Amino acid sequence: MSTIADNIDQVSSRIRAATQAAGRAENSVRLLAVSKTKPAQDLRDAHAAGLCDFGENYLQEALGKQLELADLPLIWHFIGPIQSNKTRAIAEHFAWVHSVDRLKIAQRLSEQRPAELPPLNICIQVNVSGEASKSGCTPADLPALAEAISTLPRLKLRGLMAIPEPTQDRAEQDAAFAAVQRLQDSLNLPLDTLSMGMSHDLESAIANGATWVRIGTALFGARDYSQS
Ligand SMILES: *Cc1c(COP(=O)(O)O)cnc(C)c1O
Repeated sequence: MSTIADNIDQVSSRIRAATQAAGRAENSVRLLAVSKTKPAQDLRDAHAAGLCDFGENYLQEALGKQLELADLPLIWHFIGPIQSNKTRAIAEHFAWVHSVDRLKIAQRLSEQRPAELPPLNICIQVNVSGEASKSGCTPADLPALAEAISTLPRLKLRGLMAIPEPTQDRAEQDAAFAAVQRLQDSLNLPLDTLSMGMSHDLESAIANGATWVRIGTALFGARDYSQS
């Protein structure tokens, strides 16, 4: 078995155990493989081992891999910071965007989503760690932003995404993820998605309602940024 297939087995076991421990339905948590900085061959191996959904943070890198992997039926998720001049390519080449945090970006994605594609699935990134994070809308701005995005014709608002400040402390993890779940519940909208939990904190995220966990390191190993 390849290392990646092995890692997928281990991560899947962690997800299953956490889902069961939380008393949640089997298959209520999905695995998004975060493949930033990793070569196309790693994604090919992960797909051969059963994964279809891949998350990328950097547009040019993602488009290159999409070309190399065009023979596979992969589902692409954009999860990184979004500049205005990147929205057209994102609207054209992804099925999901997890990192929308302002209305202007959402409006551009809606205008630029090609008519022949289904609506673009959107999560609003919310910042529950205060000044520790620069990405994500504030909890105070969330209700109005969610209302506005929910009316955009070519988008389908699915839920929230969060990246709490990293900590190994389970109580701190739980507090942050529970806050995201409460924010989601406080919105009067039909949302079905909570994108939260990474390699080090997926158990806490699942205990607090995550439906996508976004996993990089535990699947593909540590990232090497020294080449870029
Ligand atoms: C890199 C990244 C991940 C994956 O983090 P790991 O700790 O490697 O599992 C998840 N979500 C986002 C938004 C990321 O940028």
